Amino acid sequence: MGLIVQKYGGTSVGSIERIQAVAQKVKATQEQGHQVVVVVSAMSGETNRLIALAHEIETSPAPREMDVLLSTGEQVTIALLCMALHKIGADARSYTGAQVQILTDNAHSKARIRGIDGIRVRGDLQAGHVVVIAGFQGVDDQGNITTLGRGGSDTTAVAMAAALNAQECQIFTDVDGVYTTDPRVEPKARKLDRITFEEMLEMASLGSKVLQIRAVEFAGKYNVPLRVLSSFEEGEGTLITFEDEGMEDAKISGIAFNRDEAKLTVLGVPDEPGVAYSILGPVSNANIEVDMIIQNIAEDDTTDFTFTVHRNDYPQALEILKETSGILGAREVLGNENIVKLSLVGVGMRSHSGIASTMFEALAKEGINILMISTSEIKISVVIDEKYLELGVRALHEAFDLAGNLPAEM
Ligand code: ADP
Ligand code: ASP
Ligand code: MG
Repeated sequence: MGLIVQKYGGTSVGSIERIQAVAQKVKATQEQGHQVVVVVSAMSGETNRLIALAHEIETSPAPREMDVLLSTGEQVTIALLCMALHKIGADARSYTGAQVQILTDNAHSKARIRGIDGIRVRGDLQAGHVVVIAGFQGVDDQGNITTLGRGGSDTTAVAMAAALNAQECQIFTDVDGVYTTDPRVEPKARKLDRITFEEMLEMASLGSKVLQIRAVEFAGKYNVPLRVLSSFEEGEGTLITFEDEGMEDAKISGIAFNRDEAKLTVLGVPDEPGVAYSILGPVSNANIEVDMIIQNIAEDDTTDFTFTVHRNDYPQALEILKETSGILGAREVLGNENIVKLSLVGVGMRSHSGIASTMFEALAKEGINILMISTSEIKISVVIDEKYLELGVRALHEAFDLAGNLPAEM
């Protein structure tokens, strides 16, 4: 019987009753003969509550202090879970990220894990303890507390599983697996028994918040068997795997969406070498990540240039673009915050044609205007008006028969 890492998200530890239920599950796993490492999130709503407190003082607080603040959410949960374990007769010890020595770089609020010193954890496991670790946090080489970005407890769990060579990393959450799309938006969404790392990575990076992107990256890189399951009900969940022959021959495995984007356009810029650089250079110098980019074909020696950024970066990007537009002598700058990105993901796209046209047809039938399009080998993304998000997701879910009602031959 090997070592298992279990991660419980915010809702799963959202109350004392829930924490007690988690303790029971952990104890049961240990009684099956496994060594168990548990990674927990802050109780649901806690991270947002802490952010709101900080914002009452300052809209952009010092990143170092913000991380000190946010890391406390998870520290509460580890202590409470250990107490609940003790109460039912299980030996358990809690550790913050810094105590484990989850070493990260110093990029506050989005730190990357560089290494993990597993010595103390291994010692505790050998002594028969359950080890409970605060998710989402680490420490840099100067001893500063860092956090790993929203949803970062997933990454803590996978990184611990990789460092300890665990048999499986189990992500317990409030849904019973990875679905064809967010079941809160499309109730007909179907749970997948398996999904490939490649597809899960695309789904996560295109907005499916069920797993943090870095967690999937890590699991793929270090070959960690990863499973998403419900902490509320029994079941096999969804296994994230490398592609294998037994997998469903689906063209599309899922639909992801991202509500956090905004679109900026500069009209009438000169069509000459260096323009893209003049526009995007200053944006990137401000550490703003650009997602989709479109440059139109030039008419009368000028062209239009559109790109998307994270909504949080929109006000700053707009300021920068207005300045650049003045320097370039552009005609106008336009911005739109009320957009979303909707994406189809599937490794089957490689071997099937006509996916894009089916997608565009389904959106057209609903009268949904496509504002931008981008494609890669296993995904097609469109930007549409925010108000059509639900309609668009459901139309695509239907058009690609993701609920699985049609006969297999179709
Ligand atoms: P936790 O707090 O446990 O980390 P999250 O809220 O981060 O939970 O992730 C679980 C949520 O992800 C679900 O409640 C669901 O609304 C959302 N979600 C988005 N896309 C998907 C998907 N394709 N499959 C399952 N859940 C999804
Ligand atoms: N508590 C953090 C968040 O809400 C990290 C996590 O839950 O994974 O994003
Ligand atoms: Mg999460």
